Amino acid sequence: MDLSIPLTGRRVLVIGTAVSARRVVARCAVEGADVRLVPAHSLPPLTGRFRRPAADLVVWVEGDTGIRARLEQECRRLGIWFTAESPVTPVPRGHVTLVGGGPGDPDLMTVAGRRALADADVVLFDRLAPREDLERWAPGAELIDVGKTPGHHAVPQHEIEALMVHHALRGLRVVRLKGGDPFVFGRGGEEVAACRAAGVPVSVVPGVTSAISVPGSVGIPVTHREISRSFTVVSGHAPFSENELTHLAGIGGTLVVLMGVNTLPHLVAGLRRNGMGAEVPLAIVERGFSESQRTTVTDLGGVLAELGRVQPRSPAVIVIGEVVRQRPGGETAWDTEAARAVAAFAS
Ligand code: SAH
Repeated sequence: MDLSIPLTGRRVLVIGTAVSARRVVARCAVEGADVRLVPAHSLPPLTGRFRRPAADLVVWVEGDTGIRARLEQECRRLGIWFTAESPVTPVPRGHVTLVGGGPGDPDLMTVAGRRALADADVVLFDRLAPREDLERWAPGAELIDVGKTPGHHAVPQHEIEALMVHHALRGLRVVRLKGGDPFVFGRGGEEVAACRAAGVPVSVVPGVTSAISVPGSVGIPVTHREISRSFTVVSGHAPFSENELTHLAGIGGTLVVLMGVNTLPHLVAGLRRNGMGAEVPLAIVERGFSESQRTTVTDLGGVLAELGRVQPRSPAVIVIGEVVRQRPGGETAWDTEAARAVAAFAS
């Protein structure tokens, strides 16, 4: 069971030490509680003046089990909520966890990713990582935005790797939070290699990649029985060579392009030159899973004119292939908060 109690303005008594209860205290504080931390051996009385309970909630983290049993009983008698949380245990060595944050919707982050964040001392996050709820998900962690600095320049890759390793070698738990999946154009492989080279233990939590989920969010499946039995994911970051274009045009199935807005005219011209028909449908899905998500559906013959009209911008996923016709007219397939609210209102 995963219960949560609104803590704003509540008096929370945490039993443990500054180290063992660090995360619980930070989480309660972030949620606006009035937190007091005491060690088990110097517990204050649970009732104050006129015998009113002196706390709304007691959180047990660490201490003598006999004291715990008595405290729990006393809480029950006084009608005070009692709960227990596991203590933070000091680690001899720090470690790094690469976490795939998914395509932007907080609901699409994995449970393992959320656990790693809850446990983190330092979080290095990217431009495309889900960042809205980070303070709540990683209470007590230092949050470092490596996607951009005040000058709007991203922190260079070698500096990100140096930061990760530096904090881990200080004995801290570092989470490197990335958009989508860490191993899909995410430079995750390089970051794992940097940790290994420095002797830092590293693990990877996969994420929902935008390559599949962003088309899916507008009802475009990357494969479809009898229509497409493969999909090829490419980066349009740099223009393709003629040889690559020949192969891409002949490979069949669905072509999914990330980071491809700027090089799209070059790609389309190359595919056409190598025999792909003008009628092959193409979709551009910008800012997937955000309120300003926009989908443009056209075909290889019409895309250049359409680009001038809609002026798509990054981040966007481009899908080329017959599967684009599966998209239901206008509506989104992902049940967004807004869609749920409208459905509830209409029923
Ligand atoms: N590791 C990421 C991809 C990183 S490359 C993943 O697995 O999703 C960054 C590119 O991903 C962007 O330029 C864009 O093409 C795509 N992208 C990521 N999130 C997106 C989103 N929410 N909407 C549209 N495109 C997205």
